Amino acid sequence: MRIGFGYDSHRLVEGRRLILGGIEVPHEKGLLGHSDADALIHAICDAILGAIAGGDMGRHFPDTDPLYKDVSSMNLLHGVRTMAEEKGFTINNVDSTIVLEKPKLAGFLHEMVTNISDVLRISSDRVNVKAKTNEGMGILGRNEGVVAFAVVSVMERGSV
Ligand code: MG
Repeated sequence: MRIGFGYDSHRLVEGRRLILGGIEVPHEKGLLGHSDADALIHAICDAILGAIAGGDMGRHFPDTDPLYKDVSSMNLLHGVRTMAEEKGFTINNVDSTIVLEKPKLAGFLHEMVTNISDVLRISSDRVNVKAKTNEGMGILGRNEGVVAFAVVSVMERGSV
């Protein structure tokens, strides 16, 4: 078994959609980025890449490449899952935390889990998404952005 860790952050701005876990969350601001800026999915992608010693998202999906302009990050997650499979790994479980002040995400977490487990082709009871505020402190507390953390474990095929 191997473990990987991922982190991502994106700025909250007006005129963008707020996409997290592959769903659009109604809010007056959204996340700025080259892709759809889904910080949760980016953190999970980096955690998978970490577990398989596959580098990072910036290397595989450079933000200078017009191919990835406004792309759904679920497509990137699909690409990372394929990389893991090609290296002989299966994804065992995913745990993650989104930190943002508002809006409240509790009502959306179940759908995020379903989206992620569908793309990773694993049971939804192997995926967890948590949401926290930053208790009003700092840049997150001022609702200037979103950060996400993820930990993923993978199994080398043939090891179970
Ligand atoms: Mg990102």
